[in-house]
Amino acid sequence: MVDLKTWLSQQQEKGGLRSLRPVSSRAKGRLTLAGDGNRELIDFSSNDYLALAEHPALIAAAQQALLRFGTGSGASRLMSGDLAVHHELEEAMATLKGKEAALTFGSGYMANTGIIPALMNRHDCVFSDRLNHASIHDGCRLSGARVIRFRHNDLNHLEELLMEKRGTGTALIVVESIYSMDGDRCPLRELVAIKERFGCLLMVDEAHATGVFGAKGGGIIEEDGVSSGVDLAMGTFGKALGSYGAYVAGNREMIDYLLNRARSFVFSTALPPAVAAASLAAVQLIQQEPELRHDLQAKMAYFKGMLRAGGYLADLGPSQIIPIQVGESKAALAKAELLRKERIFATAVRPPTVPEGTARLRFSITRHHSTADLAQAAKALLEVMEL
Ligand SMILES: *Cc1c(COP(=O)(O)O)cnc(C)c1O
Repeated sequence: MVDLKTWLSQQQEKGGLRSLRPVSSRAKGRLTLAGDGNRELIDFSSNDYLALAEHPALIAAAQQALLRFGTGSGASRLMSGDLAVHHELEEAMATLKGKEAALTFGSGYMANTGIIPALMNRHDCVFSDRLNHASIHDGCRLSGARVIRFRHNDLNHLEELLMEKRGTGTALIVVESIYSMDGDRCPLRELVAIKERFGCLLMVDEAHATGVFGAKGGGIIEEDGVSSGVDLAMGTFGKALGSYGAYVAGNREMIDYLLNRARSFVFSTALPPAVAAASLAAVQLIQQEPELRHDLQAKMAYFKGMLRAGGYLADLGPSQIIPIQVGESKAALAKAELLRKERIFATAVRPPTVPEGTARLRFSITRHHSTADLAQAAKALLEVMEL
């Protein structure tokens, strides 16, 4: 085991130490940090992209479920924790993703660490994008399969590796559709053609795309019209859907198998009824109100336009997640601190969350931000980046 004191001081030294900072109040995209007086910061670090976590429809659905069923679900789904609301939520997700069935999980981390090991074993290989979320990497590792990482979004590299290493076992390709720390987008149509050519399964994590992309909010899978080519359409309820938990949609056989074999599903308590009810309300809302997405799209375009007009030249990407590259962790932390002085709260994302030397400020745009907020943040950011 490492010496704790040494490890902590080394991390402190290189700007890698993480600590928790409680939020003492939060509403409408503004937050106050404990010990920071009553200073309100504009929050650019939340994944509540559509501002649904404070939406009256979600709150009402959660309240009703709370009063009818209490706070906890009391047991795993396979024991007595299985409620009608879980099934309604799964049906809604299956429909949204254009698949036969779906299964909910306690969280995205649990979904990825449950699904991959249920399907893959040491005779199989997983082809995984290098920038996939840690939960995907952990799921791969736990499965015991051979893990082959391809260069981020580089399908030529993936093809080379498939030709060389595919083997005869089951092969699974895993990607995200919108990458959580880079905000860029996976070319899913091309990927589906490759997975078909090489006879692989394809799993797509839409944690940052569901609700935000697609005519009905079904994510990039919907926008690109590829649901039949995606075997495992996974995503979370904790981001644009304003709730908590996760799902995977697939064919009936796949879901029946996973509910028997995914250990993070079988051996874990069912999602609380109020949480599942809030997620269900969110899934209904995103389908009924495309304006939510259009509003967010307009806001992200406005913010990017302000940065470009101010002379920021690097690529700002196609999504609501905007990475501003800084490089070293300490520099990223210092810039985040300067932004905080200007009442802008954006996270300095550092290794190991992102590769060494690519520490960045991650701006996520949400529907809470007004034009004035976005203009103020762009101005402060341009100053901090010395533009
Ligand atoms: C956030 C995230 C997860 C984990 O989801 P939780 O519900 O927060 O555990 C998984 N995959 C991706 C791509 C994510 O961004």
